[in-house]
Amino acid sequence: MTVALLQNNEQNFQYILENYKEICYNVENAKTKYQNGSDVRIMAVTKTVEPEKINFAVAQGIKLLGENRVQEFLSKKEQYDPSAEVHFIGHLQTNKVKYIINDVSLIQSVDSLKLACEINRLAMKNGKKMNVLIEVNVGNELSKSGVGYGDCVSLIKDISLLENVSVKGLMAIPPIGCGEDEFERMHELFENIKAMNINGTDMQTLSMGMSGDYELAIKHGSNLVRIGTKLFGARKYFGG
Ligand SMILES: *Cc1c(COP(=O)(O)O)cnc(C)c1O
Repeated sequence: MTVALLQNNEQNFQYILENYKEICYNVENAKTKYQNGSDVRIMAVTKTVEPEKINFAVAQGIKLLGENRVQEFLSKKEQYDPSAEVHFIGHLQTNKVKYIINDVSLIQSVDSLKLACEINRLAMKNGKKMNVLIEVNVGNELSKSGVGYGDCVSLIKDISLLENVSVKGLMAIPPIGCGEDEFERMHELFENIKAMNINGTDMQTLSMGMSGDYELAIKHGSNLVRIGTKLFGARKYFGG
C-alpha cells in the first residue's frame, strides 16, 4: 500500500476514532459511577467490517476483536494486525470448531456439553487449554442460542470436568429493549457461580452489553462490552 493511499484511508476512518473516543469516555464514566473504576474491556465486533477498518481500530487502541462467523473469519484473519486478540462470539457448530481452535484465545458462545466436549478434544489434540464463556439465554428467547438460565450451573459443573477447557465466565445477549431486570439476573447468576468456586473454573468475565446498552450492562456488572455498530457504523447486512 502506498503512503498516499494509507493517508487517504486514515482520513476516511477518522469517524472510527471519534466513535472509539466516545465509547471510551462513556465506559470510563460508567465504570467510575457503578464499579469503583474496575477494569472493563471494550471489544470491537467485526462482522461485515473490512480488515483495513478493523486494523485502524486496533491501531487506535482496541486490542480485542469479536468474530461471529467462521467462514468470514477464515477469509479475513490473515489480514488482521497480529497484536489483536480474537474471541469467537457467534453461534458455533460442533463440526466447525476445528477451523478456529488455533486462532482464537477464547470462545464466548459455549452453550452445550456436546460443543464443550469437541472443544476439549481438539484442544487436547493441539496441546492447549481453551478458555470459554458460557452463553446464557437470559431472556429465554426461542430464536436465540445459549443455555437456559436454570441449566447454567449444571452445565458449568459438567464442563469443569473437561481437562482442556477452562470456564472463564458468562456471556449473554439480553433481549433488545428488555430493561434492567435481565441484566441484573445475569449479574446475580455470575456472582452466585463465582461464589461456588467450582473446581477448574475461574469466573473472571461477564460479557454483556452492545452498542445500544453497554452502559446499562456496566451498571449491572459487565466487564466486557461488545461493540459493533457504535464503533464502525451500520452494517451492510443484518445478522447475528
Ligand atoms: C453483532 C454482535 C454484537 C454487536 O452488536 P452492535 O449492536 O452492533 O454493537 C455483540 N455481540 C454479539 C454476539 C453480536 O453478534
